[in-house]
Amino acid sequence: MHILVLNAGSSSIKAAVIHPVTGQRALEMQADRLLDEPRITFSDGTEIELTKTGHEHALSTGLVALRDKLNGTELVAIGHRVVHGGDQFDRPVRITEEVISAIESLGELAPLHNPVNLSGIRIAQDFFPDLFHYADFDTAFHQSLPSRAKTYALPKELAKKYGIRRYGFHGMSHHFVARRTAEFLKQDYRSMRIITCHLGNGCSVAAVEYGRSVETSMGMTPLEGLVMGTRSGDIDPGIIPFIQEKTGKSASEINDLLNRESGLAGLSGVGNDMRTILERSTQGDADAQLALQVFSHRLRKYIGAYAAVMGGVDAIAFTGGIGENSAIVRHRAAQRLDFLGAIINEDKNNTLRLTDEEPIRAFSMDHSRVALLAIHTDEQLAIARAGAKLLEQADLVNTQPTIPIAVSARHIHLRQETVDVLFGKGHQLTVKKWLSQPGQFAAEETVTVVGPRNTIERVRVLGPVRPKDQLEISRTDEFFLGIDAPIRESGKVENTPGCKLIGPAGEYDLEDGVICAWRHIHMTPEDAERFGVDDRDIVEVEVGNGDRALTFGNVLVRVSPNYRLEMHIDTDEGNAAEISPGDEGVLFETGQRGQLRKRRLRHEV
Ligand code: ADP
Repeated sequence: MHILVLNAGSSSIKAAVIHPVTGQRALEMQADRLLDEPRITFSDGTEIELTKTGHEHALSTGLVALRDKLNGTELVAIGHRVVHGGDQFDRPVRITEEVISAIESLGELAPLHNPVNLSGIRIAQDFFPDLFHYADFDTAFHQSLPSRAKTYALPKELAKKYGIRRYGFHGMSHHFVARRTAEFLKQDYRSMRIITCHLGNGCSVAAVEYGRSVETSMGMTPLEGLVMGTRSGDIDPGIIPFIQEKTGKSASEINDLLNRESGLAGLSGVGNDMRTILERSTQGDADAQLALQVFSHRLRKYIGAYAAVMGGVDAIAFTGGIGENSAIVRHRAAQRLDFLGAIINEDKNNTLRLTDEEPIRAFSMDHSRVALLAIHTDEQLAIARAGAKLLEQADLVNTQPTIPIAVSARHIHLRQETVDVLFGKGHQLTVKKWLSQPGQFAAEETVTVVGPRNTIERVRVLGPVRPKDQLEISRTDEFFLGIDAPIRESGKVENTPGCKLIGPAGEYDLEDGVICAWRHIHMTPEDAERFGVDDRDIVEVEVGNGDRALTFGNVLVRVSPNYRLEMHIDTDEGNAAEISPGDEGVLFETGQRGQLRKRRLRHEV
């Protein structure tokens, strides 16, 4: 069972026939120089010189040849890499007419990419009409960016009208590398804070906090952020009208200047290849030296910023042609990060070589709290695996029960030590009402919560006592109290803010533990089996019907034999969805909205 992964770009086309489990390639194809001297090369050593330019001709010719070369290799699906998924696509989707028109309309945001990606889809569909075609998006992984990270400080009407916000790119690579990092370190992916640095011709960094991308350096287009081969990355936006006035260049000429003539190429004057720049810089070429310094300094600055965004970091991974191969760039970016807990092993870094057998290597000291890693990224394999998962899900039968929804009002979990201070030594919490989760109860006791701006009285204590204090509030409470509480799953209170608590017997200064609870579903292993999900998967749930229907994305699944099936949302979310007692939700098998509203799986219980 193989999947053909197709990346149809404007100047080159890459295709690979991949086994999604082993990652082995049965055949690879690459078409280059489509605009001047097009040629197609295959991994079996054959070549085709094309007589006509343009990617459509190259793709048709290439696919005919590729089909002939399959030699009995069974293809089950074709995965298309699509650059821009806007805010509609947060994961790979099966291609339907609806999806095609969505990709078409996103052409405005990615005029250089989406139209060619789309014509790749159409041509491949003509050649392989019976196969399962799906799209995977560079932006999808970053759909989890919180508003504070994805919003530009522009007039809000303008931003809304034109979809101007940060989307982020290279999502397959950041996701793949973050997961591999956790696997390699034998840690739980959803318990780690990882900074992934994708340094190829295009470069971007992402902050992956507990399995979600919460920051990334590329923005509405792949131009923002790091210095790249030919792209400037961040510049003062005031420079654009300045250049326009000084040189009389048009908007599209300036776009070209920033995308094609800047970055390493613009700084060094010797092209965009990091190998040449490294060589020249060693020989004393001042321009190449500055190019290397500007490149590495920007990267280092982002690493520091992203560690601050996540309140710490557990691993920093380098990938892409530069990240995988350049010890010098890794050294410049990762040395003197001891203050973050990341201590480079210079020797390991210098001698590090990634191979097929060893595609991941660490180059931090054994006593470094933060792991520094070089990892071979494989976006094609990531796309192939996403397709295999989609195919599996498509086989799921329509037996999904609905999920009861519970709105959790603000509440607090306390340690016995804190109960002692607030309610008196040895005080035992008294049960007011048993909750639906076995063994959990709302206690008679309440506390007063004091924030920098305001105070909230009678916050319900939930029992039994726990090993850590944890106050769960809504966004509205957060602004009312004046506390910036991160969205966390229960129990993850490291690096969270605190507040003052007042009880009848005394006051307690909570050092940390204030969170906005990550909306979640509790379920038993049997439920998980029926839904086809695993512990800590992130799913979408639709609540309500008709006009009141509201989709909650980013819902965390928690599985334990001690749970009862129930989704928990906070009061803000409950109000937004006009939830009433007894309401139920429906789990989506995947997250592509318009399309899946029809395909959602419902079962009347
Ligand atoms: P793409 O983003 O097109 O997939 P790659 O991930 O292949 O690109 O990265 C290309 C970049 O990697 C180029 O700047 C190239 O110079 C750089 N690179 C490749 N090998 C090395 C090396 N041994 N040392 C330094 N840089 C390298």
